[in-house]
Amino acid sequence: MNRKQFLVAAAALPLTGAAFKLSSLNKFSSELPETSKMPVLFLGHGSPMNAIEENEFVKGFRTISSQIEKPNAILVISAHWETKGTYVTAMENPQTIHDFGGFPQALFDVQYPAPGSPDLALLTKEIVTSTDIHLDDKWGLDHGSWSVIKHLYPNADVPIIQMSIDYTKPPSYHYALAKELAALRRRGVLIVGSGNNVHNLRMISWQHLNTAGFAFDWAKYADEKMKEYIRDGNHQPLIDYHLQGKEFQLAIPTPEHYMPMIYALALQDKEEEINIFNDQAVAGSLAMTSFKIG
Ligand code: ZN
Repeated sequence: MNRKQFLVAAAALPLTGAAFKLSSLNKFSSELPETSKMPVLFLGHGSPMNAIEENEFVKGFRTISSQIEKPNAILVISAHWETKGTYVTAMENPQTIHDFGGFPQALFDVQYPAPGSPDLALLTKEIVTSTDIHLDDKWGLDHGSWSVIKHLYPNADVPIIQMSIDYTKPPSYHYALAKELAALRRRGVLIVGSGNNVHNLRMISWQHLNTAGFAFDWAKYADEKMKEYIRDGNHQPLIDYHLQGKEFQLAIPTPEHYMPMIYALALQDKEEEINIFNDQAVAGSLAMTSFKIG
């Protein structure tokens, strides 16, 4: 069968499975041209104040962006957008959402006017086949996105979308769903999970708020153990985090800040290197641990 015959035959088939994916990818080739495989990031975002403060974490974000080719677009899985079902933001101009209280006015004044990417939203919807991805026109960019992405791309000139976390689903579901996003990496899409691997706000040590590196024993243990699994490419215990004892339970009292890390790890190919950075504890019960895959 020559190419023309193949195309005619393919056109006659219903667009399902691989054929559907191929067709989707071709359709978006002008907006999201093929690239070499983009890295994947997990960014520990910590306090919203990191958006406007100058500190070692912000420097870490800048350094990592300097090591990455400028993407065609960004897809963020943020801890701060949980929904029933999975949504992607599909508007042309996502609003900057100030989803917090009790912070200085300067933080509420921050705008991150990066354009959206309805094309990437549609492409994401089309390549994910295990669940129906819904297109959203109401959300925007919450601080899980803009507080860190503004340090990577301060000019807000890279189109960006968010994908929500379905709070009704277990970690294994999120791990499998994330794998379906892999093709985006070769369309110049930088996939970013934004959360914190150790995140227990109830146990914050306010007296250690400005003591760099202070961690409770359980927080230190959980962070070190997670990094060990991450370095070994041993993802199963991280997916089964609820089976890993009391330190993990204290580190992950609720799953929303942890799950973006599961998305990032799921996208690691076997041979890919992982570079851990910003792995500092904050206020006893938080870790800023971040990594770059590829
Ligand atoms: Zn957060």
